[in-house]
Amino acid sequence: MASIEFAQVTQSFNKNVIIKDLNLKIEDGKFTVLVGPSGCGKTTLLRMIAGLDPQTSGSVLINGKDVTRIAPGQRGVAMVFQNYAIYPTMSVRENIEFGLKNNKVGKEERNRLVESICETVGLKPYLDRKPSTLSGGQRQRVALARAMVKKPSVFLMDEPLSNLDAKLRVQMRIELIEMHKKLGTTFVYVTHDQVEAMSMADTIVLMNHGQIQQMAAPEVIYRQPSNLFAAQFIGVPPMNIGDLGVDGAKFGFRPESAVLSVEPLDAHYTVRGIVATREMLGSETIYQVKAGQEAFMIKCTEDRFSVDQEVYLGVDATKLFFFGADENRIDPADARYGEYMRALKGQRHG
Ligand code: ATP
Repeated sequence: MASIEFAQVTQSFNKNVIIKDLNLKIEDGKFTVLVGPSGCGKTTLLRMIAGLDPQTSGSVLINGKDVTRIAPGQRGVAMVFQNYAIYPTMSVRENIEFGLKNNKVGKEERNRLVESICETVGLKPYLDRKPSTLSGGQRQRVALARAMVKKPSVFLMDEPLSNLDAKLRVQMRIELIEMHKKLGTTFVYVTHDQVEAMSMADTIVLMNHGQIQQMAAPEVIYRQPSNLFAAQFIGVPPMNIGDLGVDGAKFGFRPESAVLSVEPLDAHYTVRGIVATREMLGSETIYQVKAGQEAFMIKCTEDRFSVDQEVYLGVDATKLFFFGADENRIDPADARYGEYMRALKGQRHG
């Protein structure tokens, strides 16, 4: 197990600054997920931990020790990539024990380690099979097992599930959570998929343009997003945002926080609109309601409205968010919060 720390780290490629003065502490034994849009620098961070691309300046510390001058193989980290390169000509067992053989681990110990890890990832019945005879999920498990068998103190994963179909991805997410629980190793997982981040992380590190937007437990980011970016990146559909018309500020509410009705509503924020689209997803229906210049996504557990129907939309005061012109969320303790709440009530119509 190990903690990881970035201290004033900058990373540039050909004079392009990708990460600037980054400070970040990843806790020992936790499942930390780095999430953010494509190109925001997630893989760059992972590669710095692994030692594959040393940082331009600043320090990376593993367990409090500066690893800048330590070679990738000596850092006690293992990495699994999206295109899990397993050797097609080797059996599952040979793939998994390959690194152990290289490290001159004896045959008996190798067998013990391989069998124990295969028990953990559910590969025991497939030990003598070739990768070509395995499903995508089983192959991904071989890649995970091969990394785990070396008992790294840090386990780095870069979008390891993105080549799998939707159903298998959900299953592998659960398996990864279980593996993390069993192993107790520090997991650092990169994804651009906020659902993966929400479902697996102890801590989410949300990034954009090489900067950390928020670092917190999934439920904290969801309930108290630090800014507009966090509010709209986490959650499907994303938080609805509208112009407040005061100070360049904005208001927001989650799709599941609004009520729709054919009758006028007695809610703090209420507006009359037209149902523009309806997506019936089984246990819930998502409507897009157009109200003047704004279009809001509303998630309902009941499927009661149809396209082109006139509806009233209402949101309680406790479900509203406000963001300043600087895009940061305004805390209820801030004096502007009450002022904006009143301004929004003044806007009600319908
Ligand atoms: P994705 O989700 O698409 O994988 P990411 O958040 O992991 O994105 P990175 O791969 O870290 O993003 O890339 C961040 C930026 O750094 C990109 O603009 C990329 O082009 C650039 N970059 C990364 N590695 C190199 C490199 N070796 N040389 C030049 N530019 C690089």
